[in-house]
Amino acid sequence: MKKQLLLIGGGHAHMVTLANLQTFVDKGFGVTVIQPSEYHYYSGMGPGMLGGTYQPDDIRFATRKMVEQKGGRFILGKAYRIDPHRQVVFLEGTEEEIPYDVLSCNAGSYVPRESLHGESTGIFTSKPIEELLLAREKIVSLAGTGKITVAIVGSGPSAIEIAGNVHQLCAQQAVTMPKIQLFGGRNFMSGRPPKVRRLTRNLLEKKGVEIIEAGYVQQIENNRIRLEHGQEYKADIIFPAVGVRPSPIFARSGLPTGPDGGLQVNEFLQSIRYHNIFGGGDCIYFQAEPLDKVGVYAVRQNPVLYGNLMACLEGRPLAKFSPGGKDYLLIYNLGDGEGVLSKWSITFSGRLAFTIKDWIDRRFIKAFQEP
Ligand SMILES: Cc1cc2nc3c(=O)[nH]c(=O)nc-3n(C[C@H](O)[C@H](O)[C@H](O)COP(=O)(O)OP(=O)(O)OC[C@H]3O[C@@H](n4cnc5c(N)ncnc54)[C@H](O)[C@@H]3O)c2cc1C
Repeated sequence: MKKQLLLIGGGHAHMVTLANLQTFVDKGFGVTVIQPSEYHYYSGMGPGMLGGTYQPDDIRFATRKMVEQKGGRFILGKAYRIDPHRQVVFLEGTEEEIPYDVLSCNAGSYVPRESLHGESTGIFTSKPIEELLLAREKIVSLAGTGKITVAIVGSGPSAIEIAGNVHQLCAQQAVTMPKIQLFGGRNFMSGRPPKVRRLTRNLLEKKGVEIIEAGYVQQIENNRIRLEHGQEYKADIIFPAVGVRPSPIFARSGLPTGPDGGLQVNEFLQSIRYHNIFGGGDCIYFQAEPLDKVGVYAVRQNPVLYGNLMACLEGRPLAKFSPGGKDYLLIYNLGDGEGVLSKWSITFSGRLAFTIKDWIDRRFIKAFQEP
């Protein structure tokens, strides 16, 4: 029986592995990929798709096609639980068990829904990225009939990018500009460098985005947002864009996890207990040094993850992953062709910032999108 490599999710850390899938097949290994969609969306361009800069095909990878063309098996479904002793993965909603010799997990993260109650029409979380496409259609149809309110809950990168791109969307579609409110907790973009916060605030306020810092959102019920001190706001469309949590698969499977529930991995991106389980991206907890949930790290993990999966199948030594410093390049797409860029002590806003982001993102997509 062939040795089996199983990938959960075709996310940002699996790009190099997927691009080289044929190499595994040529060496006599079976490769299976489980993913709930035939496509994987590049999140860095998600808000740009909401704003209309990009179409879905510009920002997604055709995972199923790529896997099948290279001789792998694609399973449309969601991994639910891992049994590390029997070396099988269970799929959600079926009895099917998928066996593995080596498993790699890149199932990403999700936006917690605990504060959401009542009807969910008009509520679009910032992940999965497909939600932003649905939101785009809904905003255009509602704003075409009159003045609406769009609320964004959170003031991290995804929240500010969504706010700016809702503005771009409505300006470009020539529908009535909504009232755009961003609920930034008690302190807008707290924890970010002061200049980044100031430039971001300036750009958003220039577009008419109202930044509310009256407290954390406690509950979202139907079309109402309630803050911790009791104030209530109404909105037609609500984007919960609060911090993400790693996929719940690992905690559910009893695997060692970090405090956030992410698969706890060592410097080889390998589970600290089960040495044939690996992972990358938002779903892991990197034991040596907890990493921000940003695509930058997932992208950097690619070559090490690919090399270690092959090495594990072939019984060779593994290579170490080095995150490469925390001062990574940050560029926010704030809509209307403008952005904020920050790296080391350099911070600026405007068209150049967005142009650089657009160039980097398109180059990444081009490198891994199959023709
Ligand atoms: C709106 C937005 C904008 C962002 N912009 C940036 C940016 O500009 N720069 C940056 O560095 N970071 C950005 N981030 C953060 C970045 O999205 C994440 O760090 C990145 O997506 C992590 O990649 P990932 O592959 O681990 O996870 P994901 O991108 O979430 O991919 C996970 C994959 O696994 C699949 N999957 C999920 N559950 C299962 C399951 N149970 N079984 C099988 N497959 C599963 C999913 O379908 C998906 O294909 C942004 C995030 C958001 C929400």
